[in-house]
Amino acid sequence: MKPSSIAVAILLLAGPALAQSHPYPSTFVHDIYVRLLSKIEKIPTFDHHAHPGFPDDTDVDAMASPPGSAPLRERDTNPELVAAAKALFQYPYDDLSPEHAKWLVNKKAELKKQQGTAYFSNLLDKLNIEQGVANRAMMADYLDPKRFVWVFFADSFMWPFDNSKERARNADQAVYMPLQEKMLHRWMDQEHLKQLPASFDDYLKFVTQVLEDNQKNKGAIAMKFEVAYFRSLHFNDPTRDQADAIYSRYVAGGIPSEAEYRTFQDYIFRYLIREGGRLHLPVHIHTAVGVGDYFNISESNVMRLENVLRDPRYSETIFVLIHGGYPLEREAIWLAAMKNVYMDSSLMEVVMYPEAFKNSLRHWLETFPDKITFGTDAFPYNDALGAEESYWLGIQTARSGLAGALAEMVATGEITESKAMEMAHAYLHDTAVSLYPGKVH
Ligand SMILES: [Zn+2]
Repeated sequence: MKPSSIAVAILLLAGPALAQSHPYPSTFVHDIYVRLLSKIEKIPTFDHHAHPGFPDDTDVDAMASPPGSAPLRERDTNPELVAAAKALFQYPYDDLSPEHAKWLVNKKAELKKQQGTAYFSNLLDKLNIEQGVANRAMMADYLDPKRFVWVFFADSFMWPFDNSKERARNADQAVYMPLQEKMLHRWMDQEHLKQLPASFDDYLKFVTQVLEDNQKNKGAIAMKFEVAYFRSLHFNDPTRDQADAIYSRYVAGGIPSEAEYRTFQDYIFRYLIREGGRLHLPVHIHTAVGVGDYFNISESNVMRLENVLRDPRYSETIFVLIHGGYPLEREAIWLAAMKNVYMDSSLMEVVMYPEAFKNSLRHWLETFPDKITFGTDAFPYNDALGAEESYWLGIQTARSGLAGALAEMVATGEITESKAMEMAHAYLHDTAVSLYPGKVH
Protein backbone atom coordinates (compact mmCIF):
# COMPACT_ATOMS: atom_id res chain seq x y z
CA MET A 1 0.00 0.00 0.00
CA LYS A 2 1.20 3.51 -0.78
CA PRO A 3 1.50 5.83 2.22
CA SER A 4 -1.45 7.89 0.96
CA SER A 5 -3.73 4.86 0.79
CA ILE A 6 -2.60 3.82 4.26
CA ALA A 7 -3.71 7.26 5.47
CA VAL A 8 -7.06 6.81 3.76
CA ALA A 9 -7.46 3.35 5.28
CA ILE A 10 -6.68 4.72 8.77
CA LEU A 11 -9.15 7.55 8.24
CA LEU A 12 -11.82 5.08 7.17
CA LEU A 13 -11.19 3.03 10.29
CA ALA A 14 -11.08 6.04 12.57
CA GLY A 15 -14.05 7.76 10.98
CA PRO A 16 -16.88 5.64 12.32
CA ALA A 17 -15.24 5.50 15.80
CA LEU A 18 -15.48 9.27 16.04
CA ALA A 19 -18.98 9.57 14.68
CA GLN A 20 -20.67 6.65 16.34
CA SER A 21 -20.93 5.91 20.04
CA HIS A 22 -20.69 2.40 21.40
CA PRO A 23 -21.69 0.57 24.60
CA TYR A 24 -18.17 -0.33 25.81
CA PRO A 25 -15.27 2.06 26.42
CA SER A 26 -12.77 1.83 23.55
CA THR A 27 -9.92 3.15 25.66
CA PHE A 28 -8.80 3.42 29.26
CA VAL A 29 -11.62 5.34 30.98
CA HIS A 30 -9.52 5.86 34.09
CA ASP A 31 -6.85 7.84 32.20
CA ILE A 32 -9.50 10.17 30.80
CA TYR A 33 -11.08 10.41 34.27
CA VAL A 34 -7.79 11.50 35.88
CA ARG A 35 -7.16 14.06 33.12
CA LEU A 36 -10.66 15.53 33.32
CA LEU A 37 -10.75 15.58 37.13
CA SER A 38 -7.59 17.68 37.37
CA LYS A 39 -9.15 20.25 34.99
CA ILE A 40 -12.54 20.09 36.74
CA GLU A 41 -10.93 20.83 40.12
CA LYS A 42 -9.74 24.16 38.72
CA ILE A 43 -13.25 25.35 37.74
CA PRO A 44 -14.54 27.94 40.26
CA THR A 45 -18.02 26.70 41.16
CA PHE A 46 -21.39 28.24 41.98
CA ASP A 47 -23.15 26.25 44.73
CA HIS A 48 -26.86 26.44 43.85
CA HIS A 49 -28.20 25.07 47.14
CA ALA A 50 -26.76 25.03 50.68
CA HIS A 51 -27.52 26.03 54.27
CA PRO A 52 -24.31 27.63 55.56
CA GLY A 53 -24.22 28.32 59.28
CA PHE A 54 -23.07 27.19 62.68
CA PRO A 55 -24.90 24.34 64.47
CA ASP A 56 -26.31 26.67 67.14
CA ASP A 57 -27.85 29.01 64.53
CA THR A 58 -31.60 28.28 64.29
CA ASP A 59 -31.96 30.38 61.12
CA VAL A 60 -30.25 27.82 58.86
CA ASP A 61 -33.68 26.46 57.99
CA ALA A 62 -37.31 27.43 58.49
CA MET A 63 -37.98 23.97 59.88
CA ALA A 64 -36.07 21.59 62.15
CA SER A 65 -35.24 17.97 61.51
CA PRO A 66 -36.83 15.62 64.02
CA PRO A 67 -34.62 12.63 64.80
CA GLY A 68 -35.11 10.16 61.99
CA SER A 69 -33.07 7.45 60.35
CA ALA A 70 -30.25 8.87 58.26
CA PRO A 71 -29.05 6.87 55.24
CA LEU A 72 -25.66 5.15 55.61
CA ARG A 73 -23.47 7.86 54.12
CA GLU A 74 -25.03 10.65 56.23
CA ARG A 75 -24.40 8.90 59.56
CA ASP A 76 -21.60 10.19 61.75
CA THR A 77 -19.98 6.76 61.48
CA ASN A 78 -19.06 7.53 57.83
CA PRO A 79 -15.23 7.33 57.64
CA GLU A 80 -15.26 9.93 54.84
CA LEU A 81 -16.05 12.53 57.49
CA VAL A 82 -12.63 11.88 58.99
CA ALA A 83 -11.12 12.55 55.56
CA ALA A 84 -13.11 15.79 55.38
CA ALA A 85 -11.87 16.91 58.81
CA LYS A 86 -8.28 16.07 57.85
CA ALA A 87 -8.52 17.98 54.56
CA LEU A 88 -10.16 21.05 56.09
CA PHE A 89 -8.67 21.25 59.58
CA GLN A 90 -5.62 18.93 59.61
CA TYR A 91 -7.56 16.70 62.03
CA PRO A 92 -4.93 14.46 63.68
CA TYR A 93 -7.08 11.40 64.49
CA ASP A 94 -8.45 8.51 62.43
CA ASP A 95 -11.91 8.31 63.98
CA LEU A 96 -14.58 10.64 65.32
CA SER A 97 -14.90 9.16 68.81
CA PRO A 98 -16.47 11.66 71.26
CA GLU A 99 -13.14 12.61 72.84
CA HIS A 100 -11.45 13.05 69.43
CA ALA A 101 -14.42 14.94 68.00
CA LYS A 102 -13.92 17.43 70.82
CA TRP A 103 -10.60 18.43 69.22
CA LEU A 104 -12.50 19.27 66.03
CA VAL A 105 -15.16 21.28 67.86
CA ASN A 106 -12.47 23.29 69.66
CA LYS A 107 -10.50 23.83 66.44
CA LYS A 108 -13.56 25.23 64.68
CA ALA A 109 -14.35 27.50 67.64
CA GLU A 110 -10.77 28.81 67.63
CA LEU A 111 -10.81 29.52 63.87
CA LYS A 112 -14.23 31.14 64.09
CA LYS A 113 -12.90 33.49 66.78
CA GLN A 114 -9.78 34.33 64.74
CA GLN A 115 -11.49 34.77 61.39
CA GLY A 116 -14.94 36.15 62.25
CA THR A 117 -16.97 36.91 59.13
CA ALA A 118 -14.17 35.51 56.93
CA TYR A 119 -14.62 31.99 58.38
CA PHE A 120 -17.11 30.71 55.81
CA SER A 121 -15.55 32.72 52.94
CA ASN A 122 -12.21 31.05 53.71
CA LEU A 123 -13.95 27.68 53.60
CA LEU A 124 -15.33 28.47 50.12
CA ASP A 125 -11.80 29.49 49.02
CA LYS A 126 -10.43 26.15 50.21
CA LEU A 127 -13.06 24.27 48.19
CA ASN A 128 -12.85 26.53 45.12
CA ILE A 129 -16.48 27.62 45.47
CA GLU A 130 -16.67 31.14 44.08
CA GLN A 131 -20.13 31.94 45.38
CA GLY A 132 -22.95 29.97 46.94
CA VAL A 133 -26.60 30.12 47.87
CA ALA A 134 -27.48 30.53 51.53
CA ASN A 135 -30.95 29.02 51.79
CA ARG A 136 -31.87 30.27 55.24
CA ALA A 137 -34.82 31.65 57.21
CA MET A 138 -32.90 34.92 57.48
CA MET A 139 -29.37 35.90 56.47
CA ALA A 140 -26.61 35.76 59.08
CA ASP A 141 -24.31 38.72 59.70
CA TYR A 142 -21.35 36.31 59.74
CA LEU A 143 -21.81 35.41 56.05
CA ASP A 144 -20.18 37.79 53.57
CA PRO A 145 -22.90 38.87 51.08
CA LYS A 146 -20.26 38.97 48.32
CA ARG A 147 -19.83 35.20 48.68
CA PHE A 148 -23.29 34.10 49.90
CA VAL A 149 -26.56 35.01 48.21
CA TRP A 150 -29.84 34.62 50.05
CA VAL A 151 -32.72 32.30 49.06
CA PHE A 152 -35.63 32.71 51.49
CA PHE A 153 -38.48 30.34 52.39
CA ALA A 154 -41.94 31.16 51.03
CA ASP A 155 -43.97 28.29 52.56
CA SER A 156 -45.31 30.05 55.64
CA PHE A 157 -47.79 32.18 53.62
CA MET A 158 -49.76 28.95 53.13
CA TRP A 159 -50.35 28.42 56.89
CA PRO A 160 -51.94 31.62 58.26
CA PHE A 161 -54.87 30.00 60.13
CA ASP A 162 -55.25 28.05 63.37
CA ASN A 163 -52.92 25.10 62.76
CA SER A 164 -53.88 22.90 65.72
CA LYS A 165 -55.35 20.23 63.45
CA GLU A 166 -52.27 20.32 61.18
CA ARG A 167 -49.97 20.07 64.22
CA ALA A 168 -51.85 17.06 65.57
CA ARG A 169 -51.33 15.01 62.38
CA ASN A 170 -48.04 13.54 63.60
CA ALA A 171 -44.89 14.26 65.61
CA ASP A 172 -43.09 15.83 62.61
CA GLN A 173 -45.88 18.33 61.99
CA ALA A 174 -45.91 19.14 65.72
CA VAL A 175 -42.33 20.42 65.17
CA TYR A 176 -42.86 22.00 61.74
CA MET A 177 -46.11 23.94 62.18
CA PRO A 178 -44.99 26.22 65.05
CA LEU A 179 -41.90 27.08 62.97
CA GLN A 180 -44.07 28.03 59.99
CA GLU A 181 -46.16 30.22 62.30
CA LYS A 182 -42.98 31.81 63.63
CA MET A 183 -41.75 32.47 60.07
CA LEU A 184 -45.05 34.09 59.06
CA HIS A 185 -44.87 36.34 62.13
CA ARG A 186 -41.34 37.37 61.20
CA TRP A 187 -42.59 38.42 57.76
CA MET A 188 -45.44 40.32 59.44
CA ASP A 189 -42.94 42.10 61.74
CA GLN A 190 -40.77 42.91 58.74
CA GLU A 191 -43.72 44.65 57.05
CA HIS A 192 -44.94 46.23 60.32
CA LEU A 193 -48.17 44.24 60.48
CA LYS A 194 -49.55 43.66 63.97
CA GLN A 195 -52.15 41.16 62.79
CA LEU A 196 -53.25 39.45 59.59
CA PRO A 197 -55.08 41.80 57.19
CA ALA A 198 -58.89 41.48 57.40
CA SER A 199 -59.35 41.21 53.63
CA PHE A 200 -57.91 38.61 51.27
CA ASP A 201 -56.85 41.37 48.86
CA ASP A 202 -54.72 42.92 51.57
CA TYR A 203 -53.28 39.53 52.51
CA LEU A 204 -52.09 39.02 48.93
CA LYS A 205 -50.64 42.55 48.94
CA PHE A 206 -48.72 41.67 52.11
CA VAL A 207 -47.35 38.50 50.44
CA THR A 208 -46.15 40.50 47.43
CA GLN A 209 -44.67 43.18 49.68
CA VAL A 210 -42.49 40.56 51.43
CA LEU A 211 -41.27 39.16 48.10
CA GLU A 212 -40.41 42.63 46.78
CA ASP A 213 -38.80 43.72 50.03
CA ASN A 214 -36.64 40.59 50.19
CA GLN A 215 -35.61 40.97 46.57
CA LYS A 216 -35.01 44.74 46.43
CA ASN A 217 -33.76 45.52 49.94
CA LYS A 218 -32.34 42.29 51.29
CA GLY A 219 -30.57 40.88 48.25
CA ALA A 220 -32.67 37.71 47.86
CA ILE A 221 -32.18 35.99 44.47
CA ALA A 222 -34.93 33.34 44.71
CA MET A 223 -37.74 31.94 46.87
CA LYS A 224 -37.70 28.37 48.14
CA PHE A 225 -40.48 25.90 48.97
CA GLU A 226 -39.97 22.93 51.26
CA VAL A 227 -43.72 22.37 51.11
CA ALA A 228 -43.28 18.61 50.48
CA TYR A 229 -42.50 18.29 54.20
CA PHE A 230 -45.94 19.62 55.08
CA ARG A 231 -48.41 18.45 52.40
CA SER A 232 -48.75 16.94 48.91
CA LEU A 233 -46.85 18.43 45.96
CA HIS A 234 -49.98 18.21 43.81
CA PHE A 235 -51.66 21.60 43.55
CA ASN A 236 -55.23 21.94 42.31
CA ASP A 237 -56.43 25.08 40.59
CA PRO A 238 -59.10 26.78 42.74
CA THR A 239 -60.59 30.17 41.91
CA ARG A 240 -59.70 33.35 43.72
CA ASP A 241 -63.26 33.49 45.11
CA GLN A 242 -62.86 30.06 46.68
CA ALA A 243 -59.61 31.11 48.40
CA ASP A 244 -61.13 34.45 49.44
CA ALA A 245 -64.14 32.71 51.06
CA ILE A 246 -61.86 30.42 53.09
CA TYR A 247 -59.63 33.32 54.15
CA SER A 248 -62.62 35.41 55.28
CA ARG A 249 -64.05 32.48 57.24
CA TYR A 250 -60.85 31.65 59.19
CA VAL A 251 -58.67 34.74 59.35
CA ALA A 252 -60.05 35.74 62.75
CA GLY A 253 -60.14 32.21 64.18
CA GLY A 254 -61.64 28.74 63.76
CA ILE A 255 -60.01 25.61 62.39
CA PRO A 256 -60.33 24.94 58.65
CA SER A 257 -61.07 21.40 57.47
CA GLU A 258 -58.18 19.68 55.69
CA ALA A 259 -59.94 20.12 52.33
CA GLU A 260 -60.45 23.85 52.94
CA TYR A 261 -56.86 24.37 54.02
CA ARG A 262 -55.50 22.54 50.96
CA THR A 263 -57.72 24.58 48.62
CA PHE A 264 -56.48 27.81 50.18
CA GLN A 265 -52.85 26.64 49.92
CA ASP A 266 -53.30 25.59 46.29
CA TYR A 267 -54.31 29.15 45.47
CA ILE A 268 -51.50 30.79 47.50
CA PHE A 269 -48.83 28.51 45.98
CA ARG A 270 -49.99 29.44 42.47
CA TYR A 271 -50.13 33.11 43.43
CA LEU A 272 -46.52 32.94 44.68
CA ILE A 273 -45.11 31.23 41.59
CA ARG A 274 -46.93 33.69 39.33
CA GLU A 275 -45.39 36.55 41.31
CA GLY A 276 -42.02 34.78 40.92
CA GLY A 277 -42.46 35.14 37.15
CA ARG A 278 -43.53 38.76 37.31
CA LEU A 279 -40.68 39.78 39.63
CA HIS A 280 -38.01 37.58 37.94
CA LEU A 281 -37.57 35.81 41.25
CA PRO A 282 -36.88 32.13 40.46
CA VAL A 283 -38.74 29.45 42.41
CA HIS A 284 -36.75 26.67 44.13
CA ILE A 285 -38.75 23.59 45.18
CA HIS A 286 -37.55 20.71 47.39
CA THR A 287 -38.19 17.62 45.26
CA ALA A 288 -36.74 14.49 46.87
CA VAL A 289 -37.17 12.21 49.81
CA GLY A 290 -36.95 14.06 53.10
CA VAL A 291 -35.91 13.56 56.70
CA GLY A 292 -38.32 12.77 59.52
CA ASP A 293 -40.44 9.79 60.40
CA TYR A 294 -43.58 10.87 58.55
CA PHE A 295 -42.26 12.38 55.31
CA ASN A 296 -44.69 11.07 52.70
CA ILE A 297 -42.68 9.89 49.70
CA SER A 298 -45.60 9.16 47.36
CA GLU A 299 -47.32 12.50 48.11
CA SER A 300 -44.06 14.36 47.49
CA ASN A 301 -43.20 12.56 44.24
CA VAL A 302 -41.68 15.16 41.91
CA MET A 303 -44.00 14.13 39.06
CA ARG A 304 -46.96 15.43 41.06
CA LEU A 305 -45.73 18.93 40.12
CA GLU A 306 -46.10 18.26 36.41
CA ASN A 307 -49.47 20.00 36.00
CA VAL A 308 -47.93 23.20 37.40
CA LEU A 309 -44.59 22.97 35.56
CA ARG A 310 -46.28 22.41 32.21
CA ASP A 311 -48.89 25.14 32.72
CA PRO A 312 -48.30 27.91 30.13
CA ARG A 313 -49.55 30.49 32.65
CA TYR A 314 -46.25 30.04 34.51
CA SER A 315 -43.95 30.04 31.50
CA GLU A 316 -42.29 33.24 32.78
CA THR A 317 -41.37 31.60 36.08
CA ILE A 318 -37.98 29.89 36.40
CA PHE A 319 -38.33 26.66 38.40
CA VAL A 320 -35.33 24.91 39.97
CA LEU A 321 -36.11 21.37 41.12
CA ILE A 322 -33.85 21.17 44.17
CA HIS A 323 -32.38 17.68 44.76
CA GLY A 324 -33.47 16.67 41.23
CA GLY A 325 -36.49 14.62 42.33
CA TYR A 326 -34.20 11.97 43.91
CA PRO A 327 -34.65 8.98 43.84
CA LEU A 328 -36.74 9.63 40.71
CA GLU A 329 -34.02 11.74 39.07
CA ARG A 330 -34.06 9.66 35.86
CA GLU A 331 -37.72 10.51 35.32
CA ALA A 332 -37.47 14.04 36.65
CA ILE A 333 -34.82 15.15 34.13
CA TRP A 334 -37.52 14.99 31.44
CA LEU A 335 -39.35 17.82 33.20
CA ALA A 336 -36.36 19.97 32.19
CA ALA A 337 -37.64 19.66 28.62
CA MET A 338 -39.67 22.75 29.63
CA LYS A 339 -37.53 25.77 28.81
CA ASN A 340 -38.13 27.31 32.26
CA VAL A 341 -37.39 24.18 34.34
CA TYR A 342 -33.90 23.41 35.73
CA MET A 343 -32.51 20.60 37.89
CA ASP A 344 -30.22 20.85 40.92
CA SER A 345 -28.18 17.84 42.06
CA SER A 346 -27.67 18.86 45.71
CA LEU A 347 -28.34 16.14 48.29
CA MET A 348 -28.02 13.48 45.56
CA GLU A 349 -24.24 13.62 45.79
CA VAL A 350 -24.33 13.33 49.59
CA VAL A 351 -26.89 10.51 49.84
CA MET A 352 -25.31 8.59 46.94
CA TYR A 353 -21.69 7.49 46.83
CA PRO A 354 -19.66 8.76 43.82
CA GLU A 355 -20.13 5.54 41.84
CA ALA A 356 -23.94 5.78 41.98
CA PHE A 357 -23.97 9.56 41.59
CA LYS A 358 -21.81 9.28 38.45
CA ASN A 359 -24.47 7.09 36.81
CA SER A 360 -27.32 9.50 37.63
CA LEU A 361 -25.33 12.50 36.49
CA ARG A 362 -24.36 10.73 33.25
CA HIS A 363 -28.04 10.18 32.47
CA TRP A 364 -28.68 13.89 33.07
CA LEU A 365 -25.67 14.93 30.96
CA GLU A 366 -26.93 12.70 28.14
CA THR A 367 -30.42 14.21 28.30
CA PHE A 368 -30.42 17.97 29.04
CA PRO A 369 -26.81 18.94 29.88
CA ASP A 370 -27.66 22.64 29.62
CA LYS A 371 -30.41 22.41 32.28
CA ILE A 372 -28.55 20.89 35.24
CA THR A 373 -26.83 22.68 38.11
CA PHE A 374 -24.57 21.78 41.02
CA GLY A 375 -25.37 22.28 44.72
CA THR A 376 -24.00 20.81 47.94
CA ASP A 377 -26.95 21.02 50.37
CA ALA A 378 -24.32 21.69 53.04
CA PHE A 379 -25.99 21.80 56.44
CA PRO A 380 -24.73 22.01 60.05
CA TYR A 381 -25.95 18.62 61.27
CA ASN A 382 -24.12 18.81 64.60
CA ASP A 383 -20.92 20.12 66.19
CA ALA A 384 -18.66 17.51 64.59
CA LEU A 385 -20.50 17.04 61.28
CA GLY A 386 -20.86 20.70 60.41
CA ALA A 387 -21.70 22.60 57.25
CA GLU A 388 -17.92 22.56 56.65
CA GLU A 389 -17.69 18.77 56.29
CA SER A 390 -20.90 18.55 54.26
CA TYR A 391 -19.60 21.22 51.84
CA TRP A 392 -16.49 19.08 51.40
CA LEU A 393 -18.43 15.84 50.90
CA GLY A 394 -20.82 17.48 48.41
CA ILE A 395 -18.21 19.11 46.22
CA GLN A 396 -15.79 16.15 46.25
CA THR A 397 -18.54 13.79 45.13
CA ALA A 398 -19.86 16.22 42.53
CA ARG A 399 -16.42 16.71 40.97
CA SER A 400 -15.44 13.03 40.96
CA GLY A 401 -18.89 11.89 39.79
CA LEU A 402 -18.82 14.52 37.03
CA ALA A 403 -15.32 13.55 35.87
CA GLY A 404 -16.36 9.86 35.90
CA ALA A 405 -19.57 10.44 33.94
CA LEU A 406 -17.81 12.60 31.34
CA ALA A 407 -14.87 10.17 31.04
CA GLU A 408 -17.28 7.35 30.21
CA MET A 409 -19.06 9.51 27.65
CA VAL A 410 -15.74 10.35 25.98
CA ALA A 411 -14.53 6.72 26.06
CA THR A 412 -17.74 5.44 24.47
CA GLY A 413 -17.53 8.00 21.69
CA GLU A 414 -20.50 10.14 22.74
CA ILE A 415 -18.61 13.42 23.11
CA THR A 416 -15.12 14.86 22.70
CA GLU A 417 -12.97 15.93 25.64
CA SER A 418 -13.44 19.59 24.81
CA LYS A 419 -17.23 19.13 24.76
CA ALA A 420 -16.88 17.36 28.12
CA MET A 421 -15.17 20.41 29.63
CA GLU A 422 -17.88 22.68 28.22
CA MET A 423 -20.49 20.51 29.97
CA ALA A 424 -18.44 20.60 33.19
CA HIS A 425 -18.36 24.41 33.21
CA ALA A 426 -22.10 24.56 32.52
CA TYR A 427 -22.98 22.17 35.35
CA LEU A 428 -20.59 23.57 37.97
CA HIS A 429 -21.08 27.26 37.28
CA ASP A 430 -22.43 28.77 34.06
CA THR A 431 -26.01 27.45 33.89
CA ALA A 432 -26.96 28.41 37.46
CA VAL A 433 -25.31 31.85 37.16
CA SER A 434 -27.28 32.55 33.95
CA LEU A 435 -30.55 32.35 35.93
CA TYR A 436 -29.73 35.45 38.03
CA PRO A 437 -28.37 38.01 35.56
CA GLY A 438 -26.38 40.79 37.24
CA LYS A 439 -26.91 39.28 40.70
CA VAL A 440 -24.36 36.49 40.90
CA HIS A 441 -21.13 35.69 39.11
ZN1 LIG B 1 -31.49 21.96 51.52
